[in-house]
Amino acid sequence: MTEAAGRWLAGGGARLDDPVLLRHAVWAGIERGLPLQIHTGLGDPDLDLRRSDPLLLRGLIERAEPSGVPLLLLHCYPYHRQAGYLAHAYPNVYFDVGLGLHYSGAACAALVAESLEVAPFAKLLFSSDAWGPAELHFLGAELWRRAMARVLGGFVAEGEWSAAQAARVAAMVGADNARRVYGLGAP
Ligand SMILES: [Zn+2]
Repeated sequence: MTEAAGRWLAGGGARLDDPVLLRHAVWAGIERGLPLQIHTGLGDPDLDLRRSDPLLLRGLIERAEPSGVPLLLLHCYPYHRQAGYLAHAYPNVYFDVGLGLHYSGAACAALVAESLEVAPFAKLLFSSDAWGPAELHFLGAELWRRAMARVLGGFVAEGEWSAAQAARVAAMVGADNARRVYGLGAP
């Protein structure tokens, strides 16, 4: 640990990519019971997309499961279906499709629909993923609202769901799940 920290600091202490320090930080957070956010799928241009498939996190997910600490997979695109499967299979996994909304724009209803395929509704969280200009907060929220209205409204129109069920799931994904997972309490 000390040796790894020395190496990192000698290199300028900028981007933290030392595996020893990363493992230490991840487990220090889990031991403190803090929800852990992990970027997966698309994001920074220098990432290796092949290695950002959340299925590769299975070992960590299984080792962290007894702690009960929530692991939140962020972004996920194009692996949002894999993330949904993990959220289905493991009680400690949650995910969102933020950022993917910005990139898919008018086509984002398909992304939202796919994220709802196998994941329990209590495991999916809304995210605007506004990493830059403030307008991205608005765009992320607006795209998500339109996509959820199209997808859940479609279920209602087809007679699969009641309007009350659609409203309940929209409230869960839009706010309630995040309040529960992050311990934010009632609004
Ligand atoms: Zn992000």
